Amino acid sequence: MYKYKTIKSLRNKIKDVKSKGKTVGFVPTMGALHEGHLSLIRRAKKETDFVVVSIFVNPIQFCPGEDLKKYPVNLNKDLKLCGLNGADVVFCPDAKVMFGNNFFTYVDVRNITEGLCGASRPGHFRGVATIVAKLFNITAPDKAYFGRKDAQQAAVIRKMSEDLNIPVKINVMPIVREKDGLAMSSRNVYLSPEERKKALCLYGALKTAKEFRAKGEADPKNIIAAMRKIILREKGAEIEYVSIVDKETLKSVKRISGKVMAAAAVRIGAVRLIDNVII
Ligand code: AMP
Repeated sequence: MYKYKTIKSLRNKIKDVKSKGKTVGFVPTMGALHEGHLSLIRRAKKETDFVVVSIFVNPIQFCPGEDLKKYPVNLNKDLKLCGLNGADVVFCPDAKVMFGNNFFTYVDVRNITEGLCGASRPGHFRGVATIVAKLFNITAPDKAYFGRKDAQQAAVIRKMSEDLNIPVKINVMPIVREKDGLAMSSRNVYLSPEERKKALCLYGALKTAKEFRAKGEADPKNIIAAMRKIILREKGAEIEYVSIVDKETLKSVKRISGKVMAAAAVRIGAVRLIDNVII
């Protein structure tokens, strides 16, 4: 496995790979890798000839007051995991390489960024769309892999690629969970043992949404009320949002028919967790 820190070196390698007629799969990450990330790498390995993983803690997707400085970093462990799971190249540039001294250009995907996480994280998706557009331009992947855990992010990237005519196939993969249901996240390491137990209320709420829907409930208000109750039963859990939205538009639905997404963001102490389920 190769490790590249500069854009030029990665581009040269990819040019060489493509000249041999090979397809490139791309998995963008912020590192602190867990099974969720690794599932994307393994999938990319199955579906493409040459797998590039990027590890870059993207400063422009953190909002003021968020945890950029504290974000977990463990590059050596990540490199090992990438190699073991089928990555051919890890691209790990620093911020200077990605943004230089003067950076003036941003990608702003509208509409689908207004609700859910976009409502409480102003500028977050602009930062995500901008860095992924740059990484797509650098890597020129045939296919790119994202997790459904960040469903709004995946929708933003899909729309950006469509609107900007970036020739990449976006694949969105299932959420990988711990045995007890908590969605894997790099931020889970911040949870104290007590908070880790409390964090299960998020998955509990999503399971309840599923159960309500299975019994035929079609009024999102009733499902949301039940979900909120489960979360708020946990002392110290704070709700940022609990929503039932259309899978494509990410807009709240007034009545459920067909499959929709139940999504929630919850704070457990200082840790912000998101999760969703299709019901
Ligand atoms: P991050 O490093 O948090 O920016 O995540 C990089 C990619 O991994 C994104 O596409 C995430 O959606 C995906 N991802 C993170 N956690 C999970 C998970 N538990 N299951 C599946 N994909 C995940």
